[in-house]
Order: sequence, then structure tokens, then C-alpha cells
Amino acid sequence: MRIKIFWDSGALSGLEAPASRAIGSILGIPVDLEENGILVTGYDRRRNQSDAQKILARLQLYKKKQRVTDLILLVAKNDLFVKGSDFVFGLAREPVGAAVISTARLKNEFYGREGNDDLLVSRVVTEGTHELGHLLGLDHCSDSQCIMFPPETLDQLDGKKKAFCPVCLGLLTALLGTTREPVPDSST
Ligand SMILES: [Zn+2]
Ligand SMILES: [Zn+2]
Repeated sequence: MRIKIFWDSGALSGLEAPASRAIGSILGIPVDLEENGILVTGYDRRRNQSDAQKILARLQLYKKKQRVTDLILLVAKNDLFVKGSDFVFGLAREPVGAAVISTARLKNEFYGREGNDDLLVSRVVTEGTHELGHLLGLDHCSDSQCIMFPPETLDQLDGKKKAFCPVCLGLLTALLGTTREPVPDSST
């Protein structure tokens, strides 16, 4: 199994490679970094956000047409929403093997704070790995430091480690059916 990560231009200028590598090593799955091959649809001018469901539908179609069996994660720059929710950090469609996250609310600037590339990469890694965890069959976890914990705020997201808790790691290993060696958490 491999993972394709599509980067929307401007989503994470210049930091795509280290972020992709980190995601791959946490999951123990090789990652191919690619320029985004799909049109990011579902933009709602009134909300200034994009509909994550519509983006996933587009990714689903792309996978079918191109006969792509790899998991795909799209990292978009537009802020995302789903019906009934103000925003989402990301969304996964497990049966299809496609997920999307947005860097909009992962940037300090969104909250009027000074920009910080290290924090941004760290958040993209945590959030991207979370959605890929769903694609691999993992559910949410109640351990607030685990990658599979669902954060509602940026502070909750920052409280997570870039690692799975022992329970989720055990599940992931069983799901992947291999012995994998995750990299230790290197965040400070
Ligand atoms: Zn989730
Ligand atoms: Zn967990």
C-alpha cells in the first residue's frame, strides 16, 4: 500500500516534503508527494469556505477514472465546511480511500497570531495522519494526546502528539497486518 498526498498550490509553500515524510514515517507507509491533480470544487462564496463533501466526491471520481488504488490525502488551502458544521479541519471517506484537510485554520495567522512554520508543519502532520488513520480503519480515540483524538479547537490540536496512543497503534498494526516501526515522537 502507498499513500498519495496532493498539495494544493499555496497550502504549505515549500514545506510539503518534510510534512509528507513525517506522515509516512508515523504510519509506516510510503508516501508519494504530488502536485494536486484535481480541481478543488465546492467553493461557497458567501461562507468563503469549500464544501469538503464535494471535494471528496471529486477525489472519488478521480480515483475511479485514473484507477488509483493508493490512499489519497488532499491538502487544500481553502477553509472547509460540511453541512451542519461551521468548519472542519479535515474529512475522510473511508470506503473510497480519500481524505482532505485544510491548512487555513492550521495557520497562526488565521487567529491573528504571528506565523510559525514549525507549528504549521506539525499541525498538518497531525491532522493529515488523523484522516489517513480513518482511511486505514481507525475510529476516534478519547486519549487527548493521541493522533486519533478529534480536536475541536487549535489548542486541542496542539495538545496532541505526533503519534498514536498504544491502543490505536495496536489496532493500526493489526489492520495493516504487518510489524511496523513508528518513529518516536520528536516534538518538543
Ligand atoms: Zn476524525
Ligand atoms: Zn488512540
